[in-house]
Amino acid sequence: MSEELGLTIKKNEDFGKWYLEIIQKAEIMDIRYGVKGFPVYMPTAMTVIKQIENMLEKELEKTDHKPVSFPVVIPEKYMTKEEKHIKGFCDEVFWVTHAGKKKLKERICLRPTSETAMYPLYSLWIRSHLHLPMKLYQTVSVYRYESKMTKPLMRGREFRWIEAHTAHKTYKDAEKQVKEDMTIFENVVVDKLALPFMLFKRPDWDRFAGADVSYAYDCILPDGKILQIGTTHNLGENFAKPFSIEYMDQNGKKKYVNQTSFGPGIARIFGAIISVHGDNKGMILPPEVAPTQIVIVPIYAKKTKEFKTDILKKAAEVYGKLSKNYRVYLDDRERFTPGYKFHDWELKGVPLRIEIGPNDIKNKNLVLVRRDTLEKIIIKEGELETKVVEAFSDTFYELQKRAQKLLTIEDVKNYSELKKKLKNGGIYRIEFCGNEKCADKIKEDTGAEIRGTLFGKEEKVKKKKCDICGKKASIISYVGKAY
Ligand SMILES: [Zn+2]
Repeated sequence: MSEELGLTIKKNEDFGKWYLEIIQKAEIMDIRYGVKGFPVYMPTAMTVIKQIENMLEKELEKTDHKPVSFPVVIPEKYMTKEEKHIKGFCDEVFWVTHAGKKKLKERICLRPTSETAMYPLYSLWIRSHLHLPMKLYQTVSVYRYESKMTKPLMRGREFRWIEAHTAHKTYKDAEKQVKEDMTIFENVVVDKLALPFMLFKRPDWDRFAGADVSYAYDCILPDGKILQIGTTHNLGENFAKPFSIEYMDQNGKKKYVNQTSFGPGIARIFGAIISVHGDNKGMILPPEVAPTQIVIVPIYAKKTKEFKTDILKKAAEVYGKLSKNYRVYLDDRERFTPGYKFHDWELKGVPLRIEIGPNDIKNKNLVLVRRDTLEKIIIKEGELETKVVEAFSDTFYELQKRAQKLLTIEDVKNYSELKKKLKNGGIYRIEFCGNEKCADKIKEDTGAEIRGTLFGKEEKVKKKKCDICGKKASIISYVGKAY
């Protein structure tokens, strides 16, 4: 337990420090582990993370994805097979070179992602068009030697994610899969976690190493910076060729498969939940994902001791009723005052608190306190179940409404205005020539990146002049600073 309960740093005054304080005080991650960039996920983190994983796994299985578990190690001969892929990852890979005192004949690396681990086996498993589509996923940790500053849940050298890898007959089928991934992501992240995101088609120079097209799910944090919380890639035949993943079509003709990979960043999604929904008292967890959805706090101060038995009996009754449908905790710990418990559960983000005190026994009432508004609602005992449903749905919509406000996008008149505005973060729409040189210039001048073009929305240029170089603009792109 942290010595001082509650946060001391205000979210709107110093978001970065506020985030680190919440990570420590709500007992989410411990960054004191002896290898830099490898923090420890504590019980609160792991329970939320498991919930998010379960939600996404359910969606994947509904769409015929099957679970697998591939080894964490990838032999060098697999890892280096697709040229662009190894070029993209060569600076980030951890290599295992020894076993005991013996030097290994061939180096093996810790998976930075599993394309090259899985696809040699795909080439053995896929023989005929009857084997397609093949849709597999695994929920694992991956390892990347990040050279940028690490930040718990957002940037680490080991992070948890789900990776789905599919193989299809045609490019068109792969494109359809990409759209299915987007629906899966939206069903969980928007509809259950109340996190809005922007879906970008990434510029060509910033694709996933080996991908034909990359799409990124970008979430905007309260400091105006972007956190990419997932990606999906159409790999085309780029991996099928070097890995010889071929199938016999209906006419007995050999063809390469078309592949996709989809990676929802579970740790980052949790980082976004904390950042976007949290307030000066701690986390606010959307009801669907909260490890404890309801906490019941019986209140009997010294003066009201005579009510203790009745209060505890009522608390147990309420627990019995609600625990059938919800994850409920009855906090009857004697060693803490009700005030301490309120702070503790507010810090941990439990969406709903039920207080039961002497007056409530007398009046047959219960007090509900929503975490998002901290508003007290007095209800009659008989309406408990309907009021809980109502409170959860109201909390969800309130969180969604607040989060939506972060997603404001501005236009800029010219480059100097863009540079000025980027100092305060935010995301901006520009007219763009599509040239990497202009992207490099933005990066050099401001530290911001071209995130890409908005997916699924045809946007036409008006000025027809690149906001950076003044040459002919062909596309509308979005710019912002990213984690
Ligand atoms: Zn330009």
